[in-house]
Amino acid sequence: MSGEKIENVVIIGSGPSGWTAAIYAARAELKPLLFEGAINNENYANGLLPLGQLAQTTEVENYPGFPAGDLSGYFSSAFEERKAKELIETHHKAGVSGPELMELMRQQAKNFGTRVVTDDIVSCDLSSRPFCLKSLSGEEVKTRAVIIATGARANYLGLESENRFKNHGVSACAVCDGALPRFRNQPLVVVGGGDSAMEEATYLTRFASKVYIVHRRDEFRASKIMAERVLANDKIEVKWNSVIDEVLGNDEQGVTGVRIRSTIDKDKTEELACTGYFAAIGHTPNTAFLDGQVETHENGYIKWTVPFRTNTNVEGVFAAGDVADDYYKQAITAAGSGCQAALDAERWLEQQD
Ligand code: NAP
Repeated sequence: MSGEKIENVVIIGSGPSGWTAAIYAARAELKPLLFEGAINNENYANGLLPLGQLAQTTEVENYPGFPAGDLSGYFSSAFEERKAKELIETHHKAGVSGPELMELMRQQAKNFGTRVVTDDIVSCDLSSRPFCLKSLSGEEVKTRAVIIATGARANYLGLESENRFKNHGVSACAVCDGALPRFRNQPLVVVGGGDSAMEEATYLTRFASKVYIVHRRDEFRASKIMAERVLANDKIEVKWNSVIDEVLGNDEQGVTGVRIRSTIDKDKTEELACTGYFAAIGHTPNTAFLDGQVETHENGYIKWTVPFRTNTNVEGVFAAGDVADDYYKQAITAAGSGCQAALDAERWLEQQD
């Protein structure tokens, strides 16, 4: 990969957008090279391991084509016998899980010849073509086109107890997880005061017996209409001027409650019983390695510069998935834009030749 070799297209990122871009690029015979991220403690701590955010969730019930039911055929065709047997025995009756879905996408991309490197791209030079990308292990790759599919990571408060119960009641995505059995007919807690918190809390009232919003100030940052909808909802109670002190729970049950603390009287605490805690304090798109070379919106998400296309301001660089989407943020929309990015890159490369 080093030396004078120039790739057609390098895809950075291994969530649904990255794998879908790879499937399309590989089928277009572009021989894509995909950097899926490095496996190390730092990436683990920051939620940046290969396979993206979906690999950190449990069941995925809203990805079309993967209903709950017998998925043994899929697993048998995609994995070697021992792994397939393990997956079939443990999971298939509950529908596909996030990690399984991502493994299947990865396998599909590899089946068409995608070369996968388990490493991060840590810096790049996009000022001239071919572009130059540098990996964590020091490898340099030259490429005609780049698809950025590095996603975004949910912000959490950073409490140790929050980390402990991730996937056992702690979530940052109501749409992904809200309908799971553990959250049904139970009190739930959402932290945050922006539109995401309003949206998550309103959505969760479909399943929960009650939803608490814990917000650190005495007014919401959210748009007026979404805040009013929340305040008019009988199932939602707002705990103003409060922060989460600790997520409570145990190994057997996962989350059982939260302890909140008043920001006005710091000695005042209260425990709220709940089976779920949803962080809705924003996301951070994973763009640090670009070092400002690709134009972003004010909130840091990459700007698509051509309507209905995945082009960025740098010709030959395309962006797909959550790194360019602060609005839909779904696996299926990420996969869709990954497909678009591969087609955009393919057509752009054709024009160059
Ligand atoms: P946001 O607008 O940045 O709001 C984040 C909220 O989390 C704020 O209320 C903030 O409190 C709180 N927060 C941040 N860090 C915190 C901490 N460490 N401890 C406690 N609270 C903390 O993020 P967002 O709600 O995810 O929205 C992001 C963007 O997407 C916005 O532009 C929003 O309008 C848009 N969006 C739109 C929709 C929609 O229209 N349907 C839905 C979702 C999101 P403070 O207010 O005190 O700073």
